[in-house]
Amino acid sequence: QLKLAESLSRLGTESAFVVLARAGQLAAEGRDIINLGIGQPDFKTPEHIVEAGIRALRDGHHGYTPANGLPALREAVAADLNRRHGVEVNPDHVVVQPGGKPTMFFACLMFGEPGAEIMYPNPGFPIYESVIRYSGATPVPIPLEEKNGFAFSAEDLLGRITERTRLIIINSPANPTGGVTPRAEIDKLVKGLEDHPQVALMSDEIYSNMLYGGRDHVSLLQYPQIRDRLIMLDGWSKTYAMTGWRLGYAVWPEALVDHVTRLCINDHSCVNAATQHAGIAALEGPQDAVHAMVAEFDTRRQIIVDGLNALPGMRCADAGGAFYAFPNIEGTGLSAMEAQNRFLDEAGVATVAGTSFGAWGEGYLRFSYANSAENIREALERIRQLL
Ligand code: PLP
Repeated sequence: QLKLAESLSRLGTESAFVVLARAGQLAAEGRDIINLGIGQPDFKTPEHIVEAGIRALRDGHHGYTPANGLPALREAVAADLNRRHGVEVNPDHVVVQPGGKPTMFFACLMFGEPGAEIMYPNPGFPIYESVIRYSGATPVPIPLEEKNGFAFSAEDLLGRITERTRLIIINSPANPTGGVTPRAEIDKLVKGLEDHPQVALMSDEIYSNMLYGGRDHVSLLQYPQIRDRLIMLDGWSKTYAMTGWRLGYAVWPEALVDHVTRLCINDHSCVNAATQHAGIAALEGPQDAVHAMVAEFDTRRQIIVDGLNALPGMRCADAGGAFYAFPNIEGTGLSAMEAQNRFLDEAGVATVAGTSFGAWGEGYLRFSYANSAENIREALERIRQLL
């Protein structure tokens, strides 16, 4: 009998992958499955980015890079943040990672230990709660409600801070709800944090390019008063359809840069060098493909939100960002898990139960619209017939 560390039993997972596996299995059996379960763009990485990756390999970029990322890449990130959010960022505060996830993991390892509390959105990206628990800290959910457009209420959030709170995680535009937090709530949060100078903030802005209906992204980098305790996470996975390349970054407070760099050195040394060169091309090259992708997501968003609202027993809030719709399904009489399983098994439509994103997701189902408009219409029709 192998003797494993107790901490392993506290590590969770992303149950969207379970749905994916089941959908794949049904498809392999010959079933016609429409996948609205997956959280990645259904587009290919733009050609000039792929070419830059290939060129880097041909040009002999085969060795280790600095653990925090190539200087040219970190400079390109700082320039991109200046262009998009109008902020000044020191490239030395940018730390490149193999994706967005390692930033969450390292931030939780840095702040979490038994006795500490870390707050996270619920429903929210399931990895937050998983890595908080793994660190030994107590996860404190920030309930996100449909009536607030799935944005946190700053008053409610600030009221949950205790003397044990070390880190607060927020995410806008949000997975799994598509919710966008209004600037007014962020203003209130930042103001309220003045009373809690010991609390750090991690703002997951991985969907910062995906906002619709004239909404602008509010980056926490736009609040200089909290720079000394802000970790701002973003990356290439969603914006440039690069999930499989594994490339992300965060802007860290100056005092934490050495700590996170040491975590990188201990964990992965550096990100794949060719991937980093592709990342430079993504930021410095034409952005037309990004604009085209976002426009296409917006078209599909309107189809799916209208379509879900027209289904019996369903009600879908206007999803302002990311590429998810998160309808309330209570009127169908199905639990989130029952709906997920029956829609997949009986209608061939893969979605993810709201409860996969935390207990506050009961009564909801996540639909990703990273699929064609035609498939979305067909999926909605199949569900209508089933209901
Ligand atoms: N943050 C959120 C909210 C996400 O939904 C995801 C991916 O689904 C990530 C971060 C992680 O992205 P990456 O693939 O770059 O690790």
